[in-house]
Order: sequence, then C-alpha cells, then structure tokens
Amino acid sequence: MVQKSTQIRVVWPAKINIDSKIMVNAYLGLGSNMANPLRQVCLAIDEIAHIQHSSLLACSNIYKSSPMETIDNIQQDDYINAVILIKTQLDPNTLLNELNNIEKKHNRVRSEQHWGPRTLDLDILLFGDQVIESEELTIPHPGISERDFVLIPLADIDPALSIPNLGKLSNLVKKCKSHQLEKIKHLH
Ligand code: AMP
Repeated sequence: MVQKSTQIRVVWPAKINIDSKIMVNAYLGLGSNMANPLRQVCLAIDEIAHIQHSSLLACSNIYKSSPMETIDNIQQDDYINAVILIKTQLDPNTLLNELNNIEKKHNRVRSEQHWGPRTLDLDILLFGDQVIESEELTIPHPGISERDFVLIPLADIDPALSIPNLGKLSNLVKKCKSHQLEKIKHLH
C-alpha cells in the first residue's frame, strides 16, 4: 500500500514581538554586619525591588547568624541575613552589576579579607536553573550547601526547591552545620 505523504503545515506566528524577553526567577542572598545591619538589609531589599526590568516576588524571614570565621582573632559582629526571590529580564552579568552598584551605595569597601566585616553583601544564589562558571560569576553560588543562613531562608520561600548540581534543598538543610541561626523577623 502506498502511504499518503504527510503534509507539514508551517504556521508562522501572526506577530513576532522581538522585544519580548524571557523572565527568569533569581534567588539573591543578602548579608550585613556593620552600620545597623537590619536597616542595611531592609533598604537593600527595597533598592533591589527597583532594579530595571525586574520585580520582587518573595522575601524570606530575616535572620541573625554568627560569623563563619574570625580573622586575625578579631571579633566580628553577628550578621543579618535574608534571601529574596526576584524575576528579571536582565542577564546574570547585568544583574550582578546592578547589585554591585547597590553595594557601593551602602559604602561597601572591598577588602582583602574575604570573610571580613561588610555593610552589605549581595550574592546571586540561583539564576533560573542555569549553571554558570565564568570569571565574574559562579552560579549556583559556591558555598550554598555549607551555609545555613542561605539554605534556611531559601526554604522559607520554596521548601521544595531543587538546586542544579546539588539536588533537593531539603536534603542540604538536613546535612548543614548550624551557625546559631536566630529568626529575628517573621515574615512567613
Ligand atoms: P564577595 O566578596 O563575596 O562580595 O565577592 C564578590 C565577587 O564575587 C564579585 O566580584 C563577583 O564577580 C564574584 N562572584 C562570583 N560568583 C558570584 C555570585 N554568584 N554572586 C555574586 N558575586 C559573585
């Protein structure tokens, strides 16, 4: 029997919107241990909500954590930490640039001490399900799995979250060592 040839009909979209860009959900980590840290973090959340082509979707509870390391035996103050979820049309590098500008506005001076005190630290924790290894960016942010002050706020927003290359957030929370995280603002 001779098969009838299947006709493929190409339907061209009536209108292509060349401006339409995909929105990506990005999780951002915030931390501060200087100059009224709670104020620094709350102000930064508001500033991030105003980043171009982006909007704030959710905010974790706000936590106090003890510093991960002491430097040269100098005692550091406790940190205030939170995680927020935004949606954005920006690419990861432009978003990083916007976050660096906000850090600068908060008088963040980058020191040689990687774990040194800071008025504001903003990190891109996750950018959709993308894995990025470039000179400027590592995403998922390195160290997520050892930081309860990142994992627990992430779980406030989405306990069912899966992290590229690391698996289920709930499993990472179970395995993570505690840094005496204290909830200081209940937003959930
Ligand atoms: P920090 O001292 O933690 O604020 O480090 C900031 C530097 O880390 C920036 O210059 C970034 O280029 C780099 N970096 C790498 N991955 C990330 C990320 N996922 N989020 C923010 N900064 C990152």
